[in-house]
Amino acid sequence: MEFLILFLFYLVFILLCVVVICICFNTHSWKVLILGGAQVLSDGRVCVLPSSNRIFVVLHLILQVLVYAEYSWEIFGYCYDQGFTVCSLVMPYLLLTVNLGFFFLTCMEDPGTITKANESVLLQAYEFDEVMFWRNAKCPTCDLRKPARSKHCRVCDRCVHRFDHHCIWVNNCIGAWNARYFLIYLSTLTASAATMAIVCAAFLAHLVVVLDLYQETYIDDSGHVQAFDTVFLIQYLFLSFPRIVFLLGFVVVLSFLLAGYLCFMLYLVATNQTTNEWCRGDWACSQHCPLVTRLPPAEAQVYQNIHSHGLWSNLREVFLPVLPCSEKKTQ
Ligand SMILES: [Zn+2]
Ligand SMILES: [Zn+2]
Repeated sequence: MEFLILFLFYLVFILLCVVVICICFNTHSWKVLILGGAQVLSDGRVCVLPSSNRIFVVLHLILQVLVYAEYSWEIFGYCYDQGFTVCSLVMPYLLLTVNLGFFFLTCMEDPGTITKANESVLLQAYEFDEVMFWRNAKCPTCDLRKPARSKHCRVCDRCVHRFDHHCIWVNNCIGAWNARYFLIYLSTLTASAATMAIVCAAFLAHLVVVLDLYQETYIDDSGHVQAFDTVFLIQYLFLSFPRIVFLLGFVVVLSFLLAGYLCFMLYLVATNQTTNEWCRGDWACSQHCPLVTRLPPAEAQVYQNIHSHGLWSNLREVFLPVLPCSEKKTQ
């Protein structure tokens, strides 16, 4: 019971911190957090609320500071004294350094803003499939012709070349020119969470072995002597080292979520799709469903990915993009 109460106390504490941070910034950010930063359009699609703010960037950095402060304060010194290899203990810091570098690059780098100056060059970058991207489409907001694979970001209020998505955690669009930074940022974030989880688990396992906890006994409610089982052991560790067990749970969940998302992004890179195209491709396919009759049959055409030209070529397109000053075409 005590275990449950303490666990709930931690959850409430973290939620309260998030609420206080949001209220401190502004009330609109609070609404964004409540709504998950997204709204559902009338046709069922989901889009981000059209406002740019740095609340999630700050939240991201605060969480990283808290995780690394706990790691440095309670885990690093103990593990070092217990003979853990320096390499394994320093690895989370190295990954953090690389991660922060690419985090700021993703935040600061122009994702591929389409302007009057580069409009004509970018119009030739990709073929128009005439299903998802039409040759003569024009952005009514920017008053520019829309290159294939581009999209107007409602949050940043600009058209972005090879638009992938708008990421609230970096407060920037992910497009042709910063997708590579985003992928390295995501990879190092996943690796740092996984490394942190491994070190935390090793720390607790070491404690169990050193303290011989499996040999310990306790007296249950009915007065009988019981040996420590796994559930009791977890409760004991949580009550003895609450912050470390909570940190372990947090980084384990985070590692799985990030690894899943990273796999999805790598799949998109390997097949030369953007998140925007992947979502709209599904939506376009749904127009063929006999239960969905939003478009007349003449407008419903099969979407095919015409941009994939093999794994190496697809990787090169993301990691060695054609930069704005270049006159070359991407194909
Ligand atoms: Zn636009
Ligand atoms: Zn954006």
